Amino acid sequence: MYEKIKEKLDKRKEELQALVNKVETSARRKLDKDFEEQAIERQNEEVLTALDNSLNEELEQIHEALYRIEKNMYGKCANCGAEIGEKRLLAVPHTSLCINCAE
Ligand SMILES: [Zn+2]
Repeated sequence: MYEKIKEKLDKRKEELQALVNKVETSARRKLDKDFEEQAIERQNEEVLTALDNSLNEELEQIHEALYRIEKNMYGKCANCGAEIGEKRLLAVPHTSLCINCAE
């Protein structure tokens, strides 16, 4: 029933995992540049850390969504139990909240 959504989630999961790997690799890179470059690098690092956090957060939501699909709990609002509209699920497949609760 949610095959299309599951496919979407799987694809997004792979994308995110690749991105997380990329971010973590560049965050680990040693600083061996002059002072000015190091300052820029540090700024980049903050951006990367923030990016990393939001990527991981989305990944976690995707894992949860896939789990809910597996357990036939998918498509119901985690807050009020209402059905989440298919349109919303297709737009934000990792959501666990109906449109009313998300707002
Ligand atoms: Zn709700």
